[in-house]
Amino acid sequence: MSGPTEFGDAYIFDLDGTIYLGGHLLPGARRLIEELRRRRIPVRFLSNNPTRDPGMYVRKLAGLGLPTGLEDICNTVVTTIRWLRANHPDAVLFPIAEQPLCRALVEAGFELSDDPARIDVVIASYDRTFDYRKLQIAFDAIWFHKRAILVQTNPDRFCPFPGGRGEPDCAAITAAIEACTGTECQVNLGKPSTVMLDEALSGLDVDVTRCVMVGDRLQTDIRMALDAGMRSACVLTGEATAEDIAALDEAHRPTYVLDRVDRLVPAASWGELGWTEDDR
Ligand SMILES: [Mg+2]
Repeated sequence: MSGPTEFGDAYIFDLDGTIYLGGHLLPGARRLIEELRRRRIPVRFLSNNPTRDPGMYVRKLAGLGLPTGLEDICNTVVTTIRWLRANHPDAVLFPIAEQPLCRALVEAGFELSDDPARIDVVIASYDRTFDYRKLQIAFDAIWFHKRAILVQTNPDRFCPFPGGRGEPDCAAITAAIEACTGTECQVNLGKPSTVMLDEALSGLDVDVTRCVMVGDRLQTDIRMALDAGMRSACVLTGEATAEDIAALDEAHRPTYVLDRVDRLVPAASWGELGWTEDDR
């Protein structure tokens, strides 16, 4: 275990497995966030999950006792809209997605269609209503009509649940479309993409090398930080284990490895604050 000896200038937190697991805050999460806010250190929350929109995260965090403003939450619904506006503002879209993303795309002014002859962009996402019909439409738009490109909201293979189970995530849907069309996904709009990091840091006047990315997944949270030259903290409360990290080459390891997220507060400050491990 290796924790920081000073505070960063801003913190970006993954949510699931880092701040909460399922319906419970992880130990120390609330007092950590409250302490960072007391010190006026910017805190942002990031999620690769496109089955919720930011408003749903605001409600979830408030329900867990961690009230957070909409502007401090970024997920792949936000980055997908931001990227499409910048790169394909007039595109007709076929999102293989659940309602929160579909609804947000319509609210952002995009036209959705399931007519393969009109689709410009197929969006693969974490969609628990995925079926053969959707795969056929994507196939026809990309392979038969040779007009649509494929993008994905996030590269996660599965979404972990408490107790060790999980659900197939976006990578499975991207792979199905790639397999039948022979095409390649052109862009990933979730962690570890810089699209996600740029959105997370937008509006913050901070030096990225003095910010800390905190998460539980090596391939997304920690990878994004490494690619950006940020400091990274891997918490062992979600997916990654100490053995996973030990098996990595030095260059791919996180800066800090923490058994609980509130170790981001330097050990010296724990004493000043009167914190013990018993807390929450
Ligand atoms: Mg996570």
